[in-house]
Amino acid sequence: MTTRTLAQVIESIPTADGAGVKLRRSLGSQRGVHVDPFLMLDEFYSDDPDDYIGGFPAHPHRGFETVTYMLDGHMRHEDHMGNRGDLGPGDVQWMTAARGIIHSEMPQQSEGRMRGFQLWLNLPAREKMKPAAYRDIPAREIPAVQLAGGGEARVIAGTLQVDGAPTAGPINGGAAQLSTDPLYVDVRLPAGAAFTAPIRAGYNAFLYLYEGSAAIGAEGASRPLPQRAAGVLSDGDELRVRADAGGVRFLLLAARPLREPVVQYGPFVMNTREEIEQAVADYRSGRLASAA
Ligand code: FE
Repeated sequence: MTTRTLAQVIESIPTADGAGVKLRRSLGSQRGVHVDPFLMLDEFYSDDPDDYIGGFPAHPHRGFETVTYMLDGHMRHEDHMGNRGDLGPGDVQWMTAARGIIHSEMPQQSEGRMRGFQLWLNLPAREKMKPAAYRDIPAREIPAVQLAGGGEARVIAGTLQVDGAPTAGPINGGAAQLSTDPLYVDVRLPAGAAFTAPIRAGYNAFLYLYEGSAAIGAEGASRPLPQRAAGVLSDGDELRVRADAGGVRFLLLAARPLREPVVQYGPFVMNTREEIEQAVADYRSGRLASAA
């Protein structure tokens, strides 16, 4: 076993998106700052309605997938295909924009806490123009693995092995198998607890630590990961995390890298500038989200 080490820390930067939603962006905060095939990770977390009430009114995407994971609060998603979903605590929305989607993501509350994440996951060149797809995953369909030292791991995508026992998330295998084969796990550890899990060698992986603090890597050679930052892991086939005295909560993401050129213009992510110009032209002429 080669234990992965903390290779790079990507701090999150306060920014705003949509109609003034305040958030913290780690991956995607600057051009080229991503972990192939993960393009962007936003954390939104506020008790102040002014920070989120504007939501994300109708906007397009092409060329990748957006994954929204709610911890607190309610959002409603609506898209041009007639899909409509309410996202509540613990729910996930897995939206494959592919050739094009026009959707809105609006808060369904005027007070209280709104907290969650949006991840952008790239698609390979050959899948960027496939039809759009959408999946709502209610919290009850996301398995929660109880960890030996206390704590819990919710498996959203991929298969998590803990003490040799595999747990498969709802986005996994079969006909729904994604080319990037993502692993997406939300882990909560109590004070001092250790978490060890295999991660396929050659897959890119990072953690996003959103509460508490922890050390990443093998005992005696571990490094602290700051809060609200993405920690990019070196290659290897195993992850080790030890929670500090206050416990820790983090997202674990890993996937097969695409190793293709990334050309992004706002909500469009393609392989070439010409494809981006086509996306902009298609959006302006109302053809972005049409079937043919
Ligand atoms: Fe969107």
